[in-house]
Amino acid sequence: MKKAIYPGSFDPVTFGHLDIIRRAAGLFDTLTVLVMINSAKRTLFSPDERVNMIRGLLTEFPNVDVKATDRLLVDYARENDINIVVRGLRTTTDFEYELQLAHIYKKENEGLETVFLATEMEYSYLSSTVVREFASYHGDISPFVPASLIPLIEEKYK
Ligand code: ADP
Repeated sequence: MKKAIYPGSFDPVTFGHLDIIRRAAGLFDTLTVLVMINSAKRTLFSPDERVNMIRGLLTEFPNVDVKATDRLLVDYARENDINIVVRGLRTTTDFEYELQLAHIYKKENEGLETVFLATEMEYSYLSSTVVREFASYHGDISPFVPASLIPLIEEKYK
């Protein structure tokens, strides 16, 4: 059974993340979207909010679940018997960072393989930072996130 994990901050989840989730769900038997909790990082949404937002969007994917952890990814994977990490690639800047991460994961957990999915071209510019930036200026975020999330994001900048 091929069990994969897709970790990230997802603050908030975007069409770019959702595209990676949809494609990874088709490649592996199960996919866990893992909201990484980093108490040193200030986030717009709490871990529970991020989990619930993502969960609400994934009801049509029976092999995808959504979890949060404040543990190291390598330890979470080991404890849950998962040996594939999925990450998305947008740019060469992503690539440098992601390659470094993949090497660190391998060093810490030899059984863990990292698989990269190239972004759909239409989402190559899209990041959670772009969404937060636009929302903070009350810009139109409808090209970036599903309609159901827009009021939740706008509420944070009232
Ligand atoms: P992190 O803080 O771990 O980078 P993110 O939520 O920003 O978390 O991203 C999680 C993963 O999704 C990363 O591998 C990132 O490169 C990827 N990703 C983010 N946005 C996109 C996008 N528009 N297209 C493809 N992959 C993306």
